[in-house]
This record gives sequence, structure tokens and C-alpha cells, in this order.
Amino acid sequence: MPAVTNFDELKRLHNEARVRGAGSKAWIEFAMVMFDSFPALYDTAKAMNARFSEVRSNDDLIKVATGQVRHLYNGECPDEVEGPNVRDPDCPACQVLLAAVATAN
Ligand SMILES: [Zn+2]
Repeated sequence: MPAVTNFDELKRLHNEARVRGAGSKAWIEFAMVMFDSFPALYDTAKAMNARFSEVRSNDDLIKVATGQVRHLYNGECPDEVEGPNVRDPDCPACQVLLAAVATAN
């Protein structure tokens, strides 16, 4: 059975299976379609999650750049003394930088 990745079609199949009941032809067909479609659906969901974290990361980076999220400067934040590559895991601004680097890699 070919994979179905159109969510409207999956919803239609699900509704039909639900109405006809467990063990019905529609129910078995839906189960088989979901089994065959799961890898493609998983890849789609994974790509969407990655895209959402990228967007969230960009929004957070803008907040750091505009001063809405500030460094604590308790010794491990990037500055002229410590250099650009240090991060304080307890600092909200440094956490954004750490997350952005993790997303970029
Ligand atoms: Zn910091």
C-alpha cells in the first residue's frame, strides 16, 4: 500500500475507520496506511520540529541582540576580558547562544 502523507486524506481514512469500527475493512485499511506512511510522516514531523526550533532560535537571538535578554556577566559571559567564545550555562543570553550553536550544527 502506498504511503499517504496528505493529512486531509489520513483524516478521512481515520474518520471512516472510526465510524466503521475496530476490525472493519476501513479500520484495517487505515492501520495498514498508517504503518506504511509512518516513516514519511515521521520525517515530515522531524523536519517541522527542526524548522520550529530554528525560528525560535532566531527570535531568541534577536532578543539577545536588542538587549531584551541580557547576559548576567558573572564571569563566564563573552566580553572583552573573557573573549567571544565563553558561555555561562546559567545565563539566559548565553543559553540562547548555546542553543543557536547546537541548532546550527
Ligand atoms: Zn551570558
